Amino acid sequence: MGRLLTLEKYSVGVGDRFAHQAKPQLRACLMAAQHGVNVIPVWNKSNREHLTIGSQPSATRAAADSAIKSLGWHKPYHVDADHIRRETVDKFVPHADFYTIDVADWIGKPTDGNSLKSFVERHTELIGRLEVPGLEQAFETTQADVERIASGYLAPVQEAGKTYRHIVGEKGAGNFITEISMDETERPQTPPELLIILAAIADEAIPIQTIAPKFTGRFNKGVDYVGDVAQFEKEFQTDLAVIAFAIRQYGLPPTLKLSIHSGSDKFSIYGAIRRGLEKFDAGLHIKTAGTTWLEELIGLAEANGDGRGLVIAKEIYAKALGQMDELCAPYTSVIDIDRGKLPSAETVNGWSSEQFTSALRHDQKNKAFNPDLRQLLHVGYKVAATMGPRYLDALEACETSVSKNVTENLYERHLRPLFVNGASPGSRKNP
Ligand SMILES: [Zn+2]
Repeated sequence: MGRLLTLEKYSVGVGDRFAHQAKPQLRACLMAAQHGVNVIPVWNKSNREHLTIGSQPSATRAAADSAIKSLGWHKPYHVDADHIRRETVDKFVPHADFYTIDVADWIGKPTDGNSLKSFVERHTELIGRLEVPGLEQAFETTQADVERIASGYLAPVQEAGKTYRHIVGEKGAGNFITEISMDETERPQTPPELLIILAAIADEAIPIQTIAPKFTGRFNKGVDYVGDVAQFEKEFQTDLAVIAFAIRQYGLPPTLKLSIHSGSDKFSIYGAIRRGLEKFDAGLHIKTAGTTWLEELIGLAEANGDGRGLVIAKEIYAKALGQMDELCAPYTSVIDIDRGKLPSAETVNGWSSEQFTSALRHDQKNKAFNPDLRQLLHVGYKVAATMGPRYLDALEACETSVSKNVTENLYERHLRPLFVNGASPGSRKNP
């Protein structure tokens, strides 16, 4: 393998729907750096978001570059073409140096008999008893298991290979970071499945640096994890062990790490994640896109400078309520809204600034916090996009309050518990 643009150990996917919050997001990374921990910002925006908003990847790049310049960030940063496929990647190529190849739709598609047969013949090491360092229990896998798993995952990995080689043709090998995502699907991948997927990725010669499996439990957008935390912790650690093993076994890049999508706001598993990273001395990429958009709304409702902010926030809620089916459709595997718990538009219209922010802000100790309203607003960014300059003008008018909320949320609720408090003394620089 030649030179490879590498991703640092800890990185955070910061999404910014309207390309207005790159500076406050970067400030959160600067705060982590001041506490001795490098967390590299990666501005990600999916093709889906660009289509919904009517924005272009060049705007993501411009906002990132400008924030870097004005705040004097001298460490690496990246722009991620998030959830792209072969047919949607081209417009990202001049602007992105990180590509998240989404192959979830290919899972379970039939693979040709020959590739299946040769995969199983090539990977006899996967059959039988397999000791993975760091795990108490060995994997016991039969040939039939390997065949069954490979038959579900070879087609997606081959498609990832075609997409990867397409990008190489445009950008040249080694000039970008590659992620493969399988999170937006129905069923989580088990650790033995992850190992087989990584073996297949190595066969395709994809220098993968982040992989986003679907984990056990629900990773709903903008709200806490729903599921068995102990079970998650066990699986997360097993995945970390599998990745470390696959790096050595298959010669994958040593920087390979897990990527957690819909990773914002999963407060109840951050402790488990931190313990896993410490135990395996592992890195992590965590994508937090939507949480920033919600902080924009909180900032608008809170500032309410000339009255515009709260009015716009309420209007977005009312419209989102009216267009709920359409807004939720692209996100069915990552939201869970109890419609009976959504307040009416009329009720919300009567709210004070404080009532609105209490319902929306992710403070589980606040009795007024409403996770259903929060998820609906999470997918409601399309409504703001249709407001055009009216929304953007309000953002600018309320900038102080918006940017304060964006930075605080990202640092205090995300980077600090995940990376800063969790840093072992050895990985911290002396002040
Ligand atoms: Zn994702």
